[in-house]
Amino acid sequence: MTFKRRVVVIGGGMAGARLVRRLGAVPHLSVTLLGEEPRPAYNRVLLAEVLAGRYRPEVVELPGPADGVEVRRGVRAVRIDRAEHGGRVVCDDGSEVPYDTLVLATGSNPVLPPVRGLFEERRSEGRELPEGVYAFRTMDDCLALADAAEGLATPRAVVIGGGLLGVSAARALAARGVRTVLAHQGEHLMERQLDQAAGKLLRRHLTGLGVEVHTKCRVRGLTTETGDDGRRAVRAVTMADGYRLDCDLVVLACGVRPRVGLARAAGLVVAGGVVVDDQLRTSDPDVHAVGDCAEHAGVLYGLAGPAQDQADVLAGLLAAEGPERAERPEDAAGAPRYTGTRALTRLTLAGPGPFDLAAFGETEPGPTDEVVQLADHTVGAYRKVVVRGDRLVGGILVGDLSAVGAVARSWADDESLPVPEAAAGAPLLHLLTHDGGS
Ligand SMILES: Cc1cc2nc3c(=O)[nH]c(=O)nc-3n(C[C@H](O)[C@H](O)[C@H](O)COP(=O)(O)OP(=O)(O)OC[C@H]3O[C@@H](n4cnc5c(N)ncnc54)[C@H](O)[C@@H]3O)c2cc1C
Repeated sequence: MTFKRRVVVIGGGMAGARLVRRLGAVPHLSVTLLGEEPRPAYNRVLLAEVLAGRYRPEVVELPGPADGVEVRRGVRAVRIDRAEHGGRVVCDDGSEVPYDTLVLATGSNPVLPPVRGLFEERRSEGRELPEGVYAFRTMDDCLALADAAEGLATPRAVVIGGGLLGVSAARALAARGVRTVLAHQGEHLMERQLDQAAGKLLRRHLTGLGVEVHTKCRVRGLTTETGDDGRRAVRAVTMADGYRLDCDLVVLACGVRPRVGLARAAGLVVAGGVVVDDQLRTSDPDVHAVGDCAEHAGVLYGLAGPAQDQADVLAGLLAAEGPERAERPEDAAGAPRYTGTRALTRLTLAGPGPFDLAAFGETEPGPTDEVVQLADHTVGAYRKVVVRGDRLVGGILVGDLSAVGAVARSWADDESLPVPEAAAGAPLLHLLTHDGGS
C-alpha cells in the first residue's frame, strides 16, 4: 500500500477552502478539512451583499473541495496533541484525527468592545449577547441579523464601529430599509485606510444612503429589557456623553483578532497571530498557519487577498513535498516562499450614484515624501498618492477608479515610477490622470 501523507486543515473559511481545493488532487496526500461552520465555504467579503438582500447565500459559496478531500463540517477542533513527528487533533464530537502535517486556518474572532450591558453571565450557557445584538463575521450572523430586521415593522439599528466592516454593515442595513446609525469612535470613517478628505466623502455618501453617521463618539453601554421568556433584548445604546439612541438591533463591528487559542494551548509561538516563516511554518515544522490567524514578518493582514496568497503558496509547498517528511523540499532553492502581499482595500457602495473606493499602503506622508492630490467634491472624486523617491508608497482613490489598476500595479510591483516627457512640467501628476501613467 502506498503511504500517503496525512494533511489536516483546521478551518474551512477563505484560506482553508482554497488550500484543500488545490491539495485534493495531489496523489500522495490524504487531506481532511475540519470546519466549525456547518455550511459550505463562502466568500466572507460578500456578506454585506447578502445582508443587503442583493445576493442569496448560495450565490456567494466558494467552489467545493476537490474529490478525495474528506470534509467534516460542523466540527470544531478543541485540542492539538503534538508529537515529535505529526500528532493528532481532538474535536468537539470526541473524534481524534491523526496528522503528519497540520494547517491552522482558523481566521479571526470579532473584537467585542468594552461596553456596559453587553454580556450577561448565565451559569448554564456561559456569556451570551442580548437579543438584537450581533457580530458581523459569519453567514449565520448575517442571516440572523437579516431575519431580525425582517421581523420588525420599523427596525432601527446602531452599528458600532466605522471601519470597513461597520461601513459595509451600515450600508447593507440601510439598503434593507433599516433606520441605521453608525457610531464611530475615531475622527473619521475607515481611518486605517483613509485620510480625512476621503473619510468625509465616504460619510457624505453614506448619509445620502440614509445612514446617520456620528464620529468621535464612544459607546458607553447598552440598555436592555428582560422579556417574559427571561431573555434580555437590546432597547438602546448610550454614548459616553449620555446621548441615548433607541434601537432594536446593534451590530458590533469593532475589528477582529486572530483566532489563536488552539495554537497557544498547543505551545506554538504566538505573537498577535500564530508566527510563521516564509514557508508558512509555525514554531513546529509539522504545523503551518495561513490566513487571518497567521502573523508573517510581523504583519497581521486580516484581508482576503493575503489569506488566498498564503493558501496558494502553502498548496505549492505541500504538493511538492514527497509522502515522507525527509523528502520535504521546503529549504531547497526554488521552493515556493511567501514574501508578503501588498494588499489593496476596495469598497463599492451601491446607491443612486455608486461610490467606489480603493486604498493601499501608507496614505499619510512622511516628512520627505511627496503628495499628489486631485479633488472634485462636486462629483465626489478624490485621488491622492504618496511618493517616496521614485516609488509609490500609498494612495487613496475615490470616485472614478479608472486609474486604480495602473497605480495599484505600480505599487504592488514596487516599480520605479515612469515619468513620461509629456509630464515634465508636473512630473507626478500623470499618476492620477486617466491611465495612471502606464
Ligand atoms: C463582513 C466582512 C467583510 C469583509 N470584507 C473584506 C473586504 O472587503 N476585503 C478583504 O480583503 N477582506 C474582507 N474581509 C476579511 C476577509 O473575509 C478575511 O480576511 C478572510 O475571510 C480570511 O480568511 P481565513 O480563512 O483566514 O478566515 P475565515 O474566512 O474567517 O475562516 C476561518 C474559518 O475557520 C473556522 N474555525 C476557527 N476555529 C476553528 C476550530 N477550532 N475548528 C474548526 N473550525 C474552526 C471558522 O469557523 C471559519 O469558518 C471581510 C470580513 C468580513 C467578516
